[in-house]
Amino acid sequence: MLDTLRRLIQELNLARNLDQALGLIVRRVKEISGAEVCSVFLAEPDGRHYVLKASDGLGPESIGRIRLGRDEGLVGLVARRAEPVNLEDAPLHPQFRYFPDSGEERYHAFLGVPIIHHREVVGVLVVQRTEARVFDEESVTLLVTVAAQLAGAIAHAELSGELNGYGDAHPAEETSRVARGQPGAPGVTFGTARVRYPFADIHAIPDRPGEDVDHELAEFDAAVKAVRAEIAQLSQRMTDSLPAEERALFDVYALMLDSDSFTGVTRERIRAGNWAPGALRQTIEEHEEVFRNMENDYLRERVEDIRDLGRRLLMHLQTEKAEEHTYPDKTILVGEEVTATMLAEVPQDRLVGVVSVRGSRTSHVAILARALGIPAVMGVTELPVGRIDDAELIVDGYAGRVFIEPPPHVTAEYRRLADEEASFSAELHELRDLPSATLDGTHIPLYVNTGLLADLTPTTESGAEGVGLYRTEFPFMIRNRFPGEEEQRRIYRQVLEAFAPRPVVLRTLDVGGDKALPYFPIEEDNPFLGWRGIRITLDHPEIFLVQVRAMMRASEGLGNLNILLPMISDVAELHDSLALIHQAHDELLEEGLALPMPRVGVMIEVPSAVYQAGSLARRVDFLSIGTNDLTQYLLAVDRNNPRVADLYDSLHPAVIRAMLQVVESARVHGKPVSVCGEMAGDPAAAILLVGMGIESLSMSVASLPRVKWVIRNLSRERANEILSNVLVMEEVDDIRAYLHRTLEEAGMGGLLRAGK
Ligand code: PEP
Ligand code: MG
Repeated sequence: MLDTLRRLIQELNLARNLDQALGLIVRRVKEISGAEVCSVFLAEPDGRHYVLKASDGLGPESIGRIRLGRDEGLVGLVARRAEPVNLEDAPLHPQFRYFPDSGEERYHAFLGVPIIHHREVVGVLVVQRTEARVFDEESVTLLVTVAAQLAGAIAHAELSGELNGYGDAHPAEETSRVARGQPGAPGVTFGTARVRYPFADIHAIPDRPGEDVDHELAEFDAAVKAVRAEIAQLSQRMTDSLPAEERALFDVYALMLDSDSFTGVTRERIRAGNWAPGALRQTIEEHEEVFRNMENDYLRERVEDIRDLGRRLLMHLQTEKAEEHTYPDKTILVGEEVTATMLAEVPQDRLVGVVSVRGSRTSHVAILARALGIPAVMGVTELPVGRIDDAELIVDGYAGRVFIEPPPHVTAEYRRLADEEASFSAELHELRDLPSATLDGTHIPLYVNTGLLADLTPTTESGAEGVGLYRTEFPFMIRNRFPGEEEQRRIYRQVLEAFAPRPVVLRTLDVGGDKALPYFPIEEDNPFLGWRGIRITLDHPEIFLVQVRAMMRASEGLGNLNILLPMISDVAELHDSLALIHQAHDELLEEGLALPMPRVGVMIEVPSAVYQAGSLARRVDFLSIGTNDLTQYLLAVDRNNPRVADLYDSLHPAVIRAMLQVVESARVHGKPVSVCGEMAGDPAAAILLVGMGIESLSMSVASLPRVKWVIRNLSRERANEILSNVLVMEEVDDIRAYLHRTLEEAGMGGLLRAGK
């Protein structure tokens, strides 16, 4: 059964539209469960009615016609209860509703299970049979298992169905197709989707109109020729080590390359308008389906050969295409997993938005987008990536929505919002040179988070009083080896100089977790609990010492350097780090450089550091709370996992209490505490941070004016009062709702669109 189920799910993922997917489901489930009828009902957009969408067994004329409310019929009962209903004789049940023409009266046994997606009953899967006998437990568990797997596939097929194929990418109907994700970076943007996919990942290749059919055909033929030569060579090389029958595989490859059903069909698809890689993907998927349906295990396994062949061809096609990446004037970068490098490849003046199937608000790509002031939506798990290359999109980075080929009324509404936003931003811009102080005169310096050297102008001109977090890993990530001491010195010097005499906090290398260096791969089951941040650099003092020396040398004559240590989880790590920093300083003094010892701080981003905040504070000059990781570790919620993103919230009472404890512990030792996680840029949260006595806040440049506005409209006393009210609340939703109300009552409701 597991095998059949796995096959069904794979087939579903390849389904081109909802009808195809549902057709498959009813056929297969009927087959596996031994029932006489299998039907799927899906919720209408109002969420109150369920319509028969597919059936193997009921009269075809009932499809689309049988429609039940939540209080009607057995389907309604399943939906309302959100649990299976298993009946021996359905027509005897008081809630049974009879539909003439359906032919249902013949069936007695009824088993219905809900299809649930994101806690909502999106459909009901039903099997029926004539014999009046309840379905056995195995059938129930089978249906429950299928239904659980179907929910996501149905949502995906629903969206991709509407976007299916060429020619109907601009359907006439005025419905808007919206894919939901999470806000990644604020703002609204309009542009054209450009899908990027990892090298040699066949299924991620989008369909795209071929610019010139002859050219695409020629490229495809060249790739076929190259692969044919490769295979002949491989076969030749294996002559001595492989028996003839095993080598026959290579002949099969060669035959396929010459076959009409493979290359011939692909050429047809290119002639029909798809570009070569897209046409190749379609052919491979078609073959995969055929092979997967084969009963013979050996033949079924051959699907891997097809994929292998596909990958080889693709590799050749991609080398040809790599140079030709064209980006539309207003590019919205889209991908299964958009990476920092993909983002860096788009010319900055063309990039207007980012949409990623994986990742969340605190993924580093989202952080990067915020630093660039580009709206982003993350974790759009239902996005049909393969179908939307070149589609017009609206990205709503506030609400976490992506509109695909939006109809005019949606575009008009968003244009209006974007205009409002622009005038609001212009208004906020006027705050730039005004002090960041509360109504009763407490100065709360606002700093920026950065890590991009490409253009420091927006940050230097933002009115920021310094850099509160410079993520040094970005310069490490965009190279193909560790940067040397002098190379690093030059990078750091630019930042330190641009802001001097204002303070700049340079954080030592924080790789691991979701930040990989291409030239320093780390394979771990639990990377966020593994070799990360200071753990790596303490194990590699040569990397740490070079970096710290570069930082100190860069600060020569400026005196505004602060060094920040990431991921410290106990005092011994701090001891060791301080020893290395002193060693680097002593070396530089010996080399004749008269450098003052920089201020050193520790990031509080691991729960153990919260409880040892006093011991850590005693040994350093300042603490900086990294709420992105602290929230992830305190709540045990992966900051990148869209499935649990609703649970990730820095306003959780546990996070607030932990932060308060840090501030109080540091106060005992007279050490200042700042916040440099994304929470500092949330205007609602900023009220609490001021109330706690946090001394400074560091955020992405786009958030700065909004937070300054809150600070200037609030007294420290009022912030304290608000914090006290929050401290008695037990649920995060209550806290957020209360803070939003408070902002609105104070006339700052306009800021809320920038909140979570
Ligand atoms: C944090 O964890 O809050 C932080 C600022 O660091 P990063 O987001 O780079 O992990
Ligand atoms: Mg962190």
